Amino acid sequence: MRVYYHCDLCGRGVAQLELDAVDETKLGLDCLTAEERDDIISVDETGIMHIKTLCDRCVDTLGLDEVRTMRSSLYSRIQ
Ligand SMILES: [Zn+2]
Repeated sequence: MRVYYHCDLCGRGVAQLELDAVDETKLGLDCLTAEERDDIISVDETGIMHIKTLCDRCVDTLGLDEVRTMRSSLYSRIQ
């Protein structure tokens, strides 16, 4: 399965992964609540998984403290 990370604020592509199977623990998705998952993860009609995160530029703009509050688990895992 292909997994794309997009910046939630500016829409820029951040990373993409090609995985045989989605390991939610490895991706840091296992610690999300059901509500967060709905908000952050979507799968399109071609089976590609899209995950919202934040790019470096937006992290710089926001400041790290604010980012940690917003998306602590996801952001830390993919960096
Ligand atoms: Zn951004």
